[in-house]
Amino acid sequence: MDWVRGEKLGNGSFGTVNLAIHRSRSSQIPPLMAVKSCGMSLSDSLMNEKLILDELKDCPEIIRCFGENFTDENGVKLYNVLLEYASGGALADKVKNSCDNRLPESEVRRYTKALLKGLNYIHKFGYVHCDIKLQNILLGPNGGVKIADFGLAKRVEKKKEGNFGCELRGTPLYMSPEMATGNEQGPPADIWALGCVVAEMVGGASPWRCSGLAELLMRIGVRGEVPEVPGNLSSEGKDFIEKCFVNDPSKRWTAEMLLNHPFVDDQDFDDT
Ligand code: ADP
Ligand code: MG
Ligand code: MG
Repeated sequence: MDWVRGEKLGNGSFGTVNLAIHRSRSSQIPPLMAVKSCGMSLSDSLMNEKLILDELKDCPEIIRCFGENFTDENGVKLYNVLLEYASGGALADKVKNSCDNRLPESEVRRYTKALLKGLNYIHKFGYVHCDIKLQNILLGPNGGVKIADFGLAKRVEKKKEGNFGCELRGTPLYMSPEMATGNEQGPPADIWALGCVVAEMVGGASPWRCSGLAELLMRIGVRGEVPEVPGNLSSEGKDFIEKCFVNDPSKRWTAEMLLNHPFVDDQDFDDT
Protein backbone atom coordinates (compact mmCIF):
# COMPACT_ATOMS: atom_id res chain seq x y z
CA MET A 1 0.00 0.00 0.00
CA ASP A 2 1.38 3.37 -1.00
CA TRP A 3 0.88 5.94 1.77
CA VAL A 4 2.71 8.87 3.39
CA ARG A 5 2.76 9.88 7.05
CA GLY A 6 0.82 13.06 7.90
CA GLU A 7 0.24 15.08 11.07
CA LYS A 8 0.24 13.53 14.52
CA LEU A 9 -3.22 12.53 15.80
CA GLY A 10 -2.37 11.17 19.21
CA ASN A 11 0.32 9.91 21.49
CA GLY A 12 0.14 6.29 22.33
CA SER A 13 1.48 4.66 25.44
CA PHE A 14 4.13 3.00 23.28
CA GLY A 15 4.22 4.69 19.89
CA THR A 16 2.45 7.30 17.83
CA VAL A 17 -0.70 7.67 15.77
CA ASN A 18 -0.52 9.84 12.65
CA LEU A 19 -2.72 10.66 9.72
CA ALA A 20 -1.83 8.52 6.69
CA ILE A 21 -2.48 9.76 3.18
CA HIS A 22 -3.13 6.96 0.74
CA ARG A 23 -1.64 7.71 -2.67
CA SER A 24 -2.95 5.01 -4.94
CA ARG A 25 -6.53 5.09 -6.11
CA SER A 26 -8.57 2.23 -4.77
CA SER A 27 -12.22 1.88 -3.96
CA GLN A 28 -11.39 -0.43 -1.05
CA ILE A 29 -8.98 1.86 0.76
CA PRO A 30 -9.95 5.43 1.68
CA PRO A 31 -7.65 8.37 0.83
CA LEU A 32 -7.23 9.26 4.52
CA MET A 33 -6.38 6.72 7.21
CA ALA A 34 -4.72 6.72 10.61
CA VAL A 35 -1.44 4.87 11.12
CA LYS A 36 -0.44 3.46 14.51
CA SER A 37 3.31 2.86 14.60
CA CYS A 38 5.85 1.48 17.02
CA GLY A 39 9.46 0.32 17.09
CA MET A 40 10.20 -3.37 16.61
CA SER A 41 10.82 -4.06 20.31
CA LEU A 42 7.21 -3.13 21.08
CA SER A 43 5.54 -4.63 18.02
CA ASP A 44 4.05 -7.75 19.69
CA SER A 45 1.17 -5.89 21.30
CA LEU A 46 0.40 -3.92 18.11
CA MET A 47 0.48 -7.15 16.05
CA ASN A 48 -1.96 -8.70 18.54
CA GLU A 49 -4.19 -5.64 18.14
CA LYS A 50 -4.10 -5.95 14.35
CA LEU A 51 -4.97 -9.67 14.38
CA ILE A 52 -7.98 -9.02 16.61
CA LEU A 53 -9.20 -6.07 14.49
CA ASP A 54 -9.00 -8.31 11.40
CA GLU A 55 -11.50 -10.63 13.05
CA LEU A 56 -13.80 -7.85 14.26
CA LYS A 57 -14.09 -6.24 10.86
CA ASP A 58 -17.83 -6.17 10.20
CA CYS A 59 -19.05 -3.87 12.94
CA PRO A 60 -19.55 -0.13 12.26
CA GLU A 61 -18.88 0.65 15.95
CA ILE A 62 -15.37 -0.83 15.82
CA ILE A 63 -12.43 0.90 14.13
CA ARG A 64 -11.52 -0.89 10.90
CA CYS A 65 -8.06 -2.09 10.03
CA PHE A 66 -6.84 -1.81 6.42
CA GLY A 67 -3.47 -3.49 6.66
CA GLU A 68 0.03 -3.46 8.10
CA ASN A 69 3.56 -2.86 6.88
CA PHE A 70 7.11 -2.10 7.94
CA THR A 71 8.98 1.09 7.12
CA ASP A 72 12.45 2.38 7.69
CA GLU A 73 12.26 6.01 8.85
CA ASN A 74 15.53 7.84 9.53
CA GLY A 75 17.24 4.54 10.16
CA VAL A 76 14.57 3.30 12.58
CA LYS A 77 12.54 0.26 11.63
CA LEU A 78 8.84 0.73 12.40
CA TYR A 79 5.83 -1.59 12.41
CA ASN A 80 2.72 0.24 11.13
CA VAL A 81 -0.96 -0.64 11.30
CA LEU A 82 -3.28 1.29 9.00
CA LEU A 83 -6.65 2.10 10.52
CA GLU A 84 -9.88 3.80 9.59
CA TYR A 85 -9.44 7.54 10.32
CA ALA A 86 -11.83 8.69 13.05
CA SER A 87 -11.96 12.36 12.10
CA GLY A 88 -14.12 13.29 15.12
CA GLY A 89 -11.24 12.48 17.49
CA ALA A 90 -11.52 10.90 20.93
CA LEU A 91 -14.75 11.08 22.93
CA ALA A 92 -12.55 12.18 25.85
CA ASP A 93 -11.77 15.44 24.02
CA LYS A 94 -15.39 15.99 23.06
CA VAL A 95 -16.41 15.64 26.73
CA LYS A 96 -13.54 17.88 27.87
CA ASN A 97 -14.59 20.62 25.44
CA SER A 98 -18.28 20.60 26.40
CA CYS A 99 -19.92 22.88 28.92
CA ASP A 100 -18.97 21.73 32.48
CA ASN A 101 -17.25 18.67 30.92
CA ARG A 102 -20.66 17.02 30.59
CA LEU A 103 -22.77 15.87 27.67
CA PRO A 104 -26.57 16.18 27.47
CA GLU A 105 -28.29 12.95 28.47
CA SER A 106 -29.82 12.37 25.02
CA GLU A 107 -26.31 12.36 23.54
CA VAL A 108 -25.05 10.06 26.30
CA ARG A 109 -27.85 7.63 25.52
CA ARG A 110 -26.89 7.59 21.83
CA TYR A 111 -23.20 6.96 22.58
CA THR A 112 -24.08 4.32 25.16
CA LYS A 113 -26.27 2.40 22.72
CA ALA A 114 -23.53 2.42 20.08
CA LEU A 115 -20.94 1.29 22.65
CA LEU A 116 -23.21 -1.58 23.67
CA LYS A 117 -23.54 -2.69 20.05
CA GLY A 118 -19.76 -2.69 19.68
CA LEU A 119 -19.17 -4.47 23.00
CA ASN A 120 -21.84 -7.05 22.25
CA TYR A 121 -20.07 -7.80 18.96
CA ILE A 122 -16.64 -8.06 20.64
CA HIS A 123 -17.98 -10.35 23.38
CA LYS A 124 -19.91 -12.55 20.92
CA PHE A 125 -16.63 -13.10 19.08
CA GLY A 126 -15.07 -14.32 22.32
CA TYR A 127 -12.93 -11.29 23.10
CA VAL A 128 -12.65 -8.84 26.00
CA HIS A 129 -11.44 -5.30 25.21
CA CYS A 130 -9.91 -4.70 28.68
CA ASP A 131 -9.27 -0.97 28.13
CA ILE A 132 -12.66 0.72 27.63
CA LYS A 133 -12.29 4.41 28.53
CA LEU A 134 -13.15 7.80 26.97
CA GLN A 135 -9.69 8.16 25.39
CA ASN A 136 -10.11 4.87 23.49
CA ILE A 137 -13.57 5.67 22.13
CA LEU A 138 -13.24 7.58 18.87
CA LEU A 139 -15.78 9.35 16.68
CA GLY A 140 -16.24 8.97 12.94
CA PRO A 141 -16.95 11.83 10.50
CA ASN A 142 -20.70 11.69 11.25
CA GLY A 143 -20.22 11.41 15.01
CA GLY A 144 -20.65 7.62 15.11
CA VAL A 145 -18.81 5.71 17.83
CA LYS A 146 -15.66 3.76 16.86
CA ILE A 147 -14.20 1.59 19.61
CA ALA A 148 -10.38 1.64 19.26
CA ASP A 149 -7.16 0.60 21.01
CA PHE A 150 -7.33 -3.18 21.22
CA GLY A 151 -3.77 -3.27 22.64
CA LEU A 152 -4.89 -5.06 25.83
CA ALA A 153 -7.70 -7.07 24.23
CA LYS A 154 -7.62 -10.83 24.69
CA ARG A 155 -9.61 -13.99 24.18
CA VAL A 156 -12.08 -14.85 26.91
CA GLU A 157 -10.49 -17.55 29.01
CA LYS A 158 -12.29 -20.48 30.55
CA LYS A 159 -13.06 -19.81 34.17
CA LYS A 160 -10.14 -20.72 36.40
CA GLU A 161 -10.93 -21.15 40.06
CA GLY A 162 -8.71 -19.46 42.61
CA ASN A 163 -6.69 -17.78 39.93
CA PHE A 164 -5.20 -15.07 42.09
CA GLY A 165 -2.33 -12.83 41.23
CA CYS A 166 -3.35 -11.62 37.76
CA GLU A 167 -1.37 -8.67 36.48
CA LEU A 168 -3.04 -5.27 36.93
CA ARG A 169 -3.62 -3.87 33.45
CA GLY A 170 -5.58 -1.02 31.94
CA THR A 171 -6.44 2.25 33.63
CA PRO A 172 -7.04 2.13 37.42
CA LEU A 173 -10.17 4.34 37.47
CA TYR A 174 -11.97 1.87 35.16
CA MET A 175 -10.84 -1.22 37.10
CA SER A 176 -13.51 -3.80 37.91
CA PRO A 177 -13.80 -5.57 41.30
CA GLU A 178 -12.65 -8.86 39.71
CA MET A 179 -9.44 -7.18 38.56
CA ALA A 180 -8.96 -5.45 41.93
CA THR A 181 -9.15 -8.85 43.63
CA GLY A 182 -6.66 -10.43 41.23
CA ASN A 183 -9.10 -12.49 39.17
CA GLU A 184 -9.26 -13.00 35.43
CA GLN A 185 -11.18 -10.34 33.45
CA GLY A 186 -14.00 -11.50 31.21
CA PRO A 187 -16.63 -9.54 29.24
CA PRO A 188 -18.24 -8.24 32.49
CA ALA A 189 -15.07 -6.18 33.13
CA ASP A 190 -15.83 -4.18 29.95
CA ILE A 191 -19.38 -3.55 31.23
CA TRP A 192 -18.02 -2.20 34.53
CA ALA A 193 -15.75 0.15 32.54
CA LEU A 194 -18.76 1.16 30.39
CA GLY A 195 -20.56 2.16 33.61
CA CYS A 196 -17.57 4.39 34.47
CA VAL A 197 -17.65 5.93 30.96
CA VAL A 198 -21.39 6.69 31.18
CA ALA A 199 -21.02 8.18 34.68
CA GLU A 200 -18.12 10.32 33.42
CA MET A 201 -20.05 11.66 30.39
CA VAL A 202 -22.97 12.66 32.60
CA GLY A 203 -21.16 13.71 35.77
CA GLY A 204 -18.25 15.63 34.25
CA ALA A 205 -15.53 13.61 36.03
CA SER A 206 -14.64 10.08 37.04
CA PRO A 207 -17.25 8.71 39.44
CA TRP A 208 -14.41 7.79 41.83
CA ARG A 209 -13.07 10.58 43.99
CA CYS A 210 -9.89 9.15 45.38
CA SER A 211 -6.21 9.86 45.60
CA GLY A 212 -4.44 6.89 44.09
CA LEU A 213 -4.16 3.23 43.23
CA ALA A 214 -3.79 1.99 46.83
CA GLU A 215 -6.99 3.74 47.93
CA LEU A 216 -8.83 2.49 44.85
CA LEU A 217 -7.72 -1.11 45.43
CA MET A 218 -8.87 -0.84 49.04
CA ARG A 219 -12.27 0.59 48.12
CA ILE A 220 -13.04 -1.67 45.15
CA GLY A 221 -11.17 -4.84 46.04
CA VAL A 222 -11.42 -4.97 49.83
CA ARG A 223 -14.51 -2.97 50.81
CA GLY A 224 -16.53 -3.82 47.69
CA GLU A 225 -17.57 -0.19 47.14
CA VAL A 226 -19.17 0.85 43.87
CA PRO A 227 -18.64 4.27 42.23
CA GLU A 228 -21.06 7.10 42.90
CA VAL A 229 -23.88 7.48 40.37
CA PRO A 230 -24.11 11.13 39.23
CA GLY A 231 -27.13 12.92 40.72
CA ASN A 232 -28.16 14.79 37.56
CA LEU A 233 -29.38 11.68 35.76
CA SER A 234 -32.84 10.34 34.91
CA SER A 235 -34.11 7.32 36.86
CA GLU A 236 -33.49 5.12 33.76
CA GLY A 237 -29.91 6.37 33.62
CA LYS A 238 -29.33 5.65 37.32
CA ASP A 239 -30.76 2.16 36.94
CA PHE A 240 -28.60 1.53 33.85
CA ILE A 241 -25.40 2.50 35.68
CA GLU A 242 -26.36 0.38 38.68
CA LYS A 243 -26.70 -2.64 36.38
CA CYS A 244 -23.10 -2.02 35.21
CA PHE A 245 -21.81 -1.59 38.78
CA VAL A 246 -22.91 -4.97 40.13
CA ASN A 247 -19.96 -6.30 42.14
CA ASP A 248 -20.32 -9.96 41.21
CA PRO A 249 -19.32 -10.24 37.51
CA SER A 250 -21.61 -13.25 37.02
CA LYS A 251 -24.61 -11.14 38.10
CA ARG A 252 -23.65 -7.99 36.19
CA TRP A 253 -25.82 -7.36 33.12
CA THR A 254 -24.32 -8.31 29.76
CA ALA A 255 -24.13 -6.02 26.71
CA GLU A 256 -26.95 -8.01 25.13
CA MET A 257 -29.20 -7.54 28.18
CA LEU A 258 -28.34 -3.84 28.45
CA LEU A 259 -29.31 -3.24 24.80
CA ASN A 260 -32.91 -3.82 25.96
CA HIS A 261 -32.62 -1.45 28.94
CA PRO A 262 -35.04 1.54 28.79
CA PHE A 263 -32.06 3.97 28.96
CA VAL A 264 -31.06 2.99 25.40
CA ASP A 265 -34.00 1.02 24.07
CA ASP A 266 -35.38 3.64 21.70
CA GLN A 267 -34.73 3.89 17.98
CA ASP A 268 -34.12 7.63 18.33
CA PHE A 269 -30.74 6.64 19.76
CA ASP A 270 -29.65 4.71 16.69
CA ASP A 271 -26.87 6.29 14.66
CA THR A 272 -28.30 5.38 11.31
P1 ADP B 1 -2.49 3.62 22.84
O1 ADP B 1 -2.62 2.16 22.83
O2 ADP B 1 -1.07 4.00 22.87
O3 ADP B 1 -3.32 4.31 23.91
P2 ADP B 1 -4.49 4.43 20.89
O4 ADP B 1 -4.86 3.43 19.84
O5 ADP B 1 -5.46 4.60 22.01
O6 ADP B 1 -3.02 4.12 21.42
O7 ADP B 1 -4.25 5.84 20.18
C1 ADP B 1 -3.82 6.97 20.92
C2 ADP B 1 -4.63 8.20 20.54
O8 ADP B 1 -4.44 8.50 19.14
C3 ADP B 1 -6.14 8.04 20.71
O9 ADP B 1 -6.58 8.31 22.02
C4 ADP B 1 -6.67 9.05 19.68
O10 ADP B 1 -6.62 10.36 20.22
C5 ADP B 1 -5.65 8.94 18.54
N1 ADP B 1 -6.09 7.94 17.54
C6 ADP B 1 -5.86 6.61 17.58
N2 ADP B 1 -6.40 5.95 16.55
C7 ADP B 1 -7.01 6.89 15.80
C8 ADP B 1 -7.80 6.85 14.57
N3 ADP B 1 -8.01 5.69 13.95
N4 ADP B 1 -8.29 8.00 14.10
C9 ADP B 1 -8.06 9.18 14.76
N5 ADP B 1 -7.35 9.29 15.90
C10 ADP B 1 -6.82 8.17 16.43
MG1 MG C 1 -5.36 4.32 24.04
MG1 MG D 1 -3.41 0.73 24.06
